[in-house]
Amino acid sequence: MTDRSPADESPTGDTVVVALDVGGTGMKCALVRPDGVVHHQERHPTHAERGGAALTENILEIAEGLAAKARADGLTPVAVGIAVPGVVDEVTGVAVWAANVGFRDVPLRDLAGRRLGLPAALGHDVRAGALAEARLGAGRGRRHVLFVAIGTGIAGGLVVDGAGYPGAHGAAGEIGHVIVRPGGIPCGCGSRGCLETEASARAVGRRYAELSGQAGATAYDVATRAAAGEELATRVWHDAVEALADGLLTAQALFDVGVVVLGGGLAEAGDGLLVPVRDAFAKRVTFHRTPDIVRAELGDVAGCLGAALLALDSLGNPA
Ligand SMILES: [Zn+2]
Repeated sequence: MTDRSPADESPTGDTVVVALDVGGTGMKCALVRPDGVVHHQERHPTHAERGGAALTENILEIAEGLAAKARADGLTPVAVGIAVPGVVDEVTGVAVWAANVGFRDVPLRDLAGRRLGLPAALGHDVRAGALAEARLGAGRGRRHVLFVAIGTGIAGGLVVDGAGYPGAHGAAGEIGHVIVRPGGIPCGCGSRGCLETEASARAVGRRYAELSGQAGATAYDVATRAAAGEELATRVWHDAVEALADGLLTAQALFDVGVVVLGGGLAEAGDGLLVPVRDAFAKRVTFHRTPDIVRAELGDVAGCLGAALLALDSLGNPA
């Protein structure tokens, strides 16, 4: 028995793509239909400590297993898409560098394509997430979308006319390293006062912990206490919102998007983040057109869905 649904009777109902989103600790994997509906999903540990070579083999085995699962369910796998962190060359399909998973110049697209005998695509995890939010999530129906993931760090992905924009070197969208407080807190990138050091979930938790003396305080604690009217939490939250608005204003000056989609841990504050960010943005606007600023809809499966979209796109645009 299989769990085939009536959708299988449609012209594209019997095909799926194999999609994997490789993160620092876990991999989100799925079989996704051409209309974006997930047929099957599974999660696996990344085991980054075993190194890039072992991880590459693990990825290929999981992808093979997913293709076999598709066939067992009476579906035809037609392409494979993989999203990875770090620096990714989407044109050559190479995972150039990722400190947290140990990749260094891994030609993952071609390796996966050969192993599965299918067209393959490789993308950057956050840009893949941006693509999914733009087409299937909070930005659907909009042509120009900026997705900003605010978690441990801050990363962004720009979608232009429905396609992800990787930049000339696979490094576009790094809004977390826009300098919003010159001379400010040192950033892991080597600069100071980057948006990431001022407004990431980690930065918010750390700042509050320093000022309150409560070690281990998280951004969630700050958001909750600010909402309850606590003075220190309100100040720390306000500072982060101001920094975020500064970063978004710079992005809007450059990209003039129709919608900004905020995701990641900090966006879980919902209106507690969106309302003050919209206000702070509005106070800064001069010539800019104001984008809608909305919360992401796809949660932590955005990257995996984005990998599926890259796989589907690869069928339309064979290299
Ligand atoms: Zn930085």
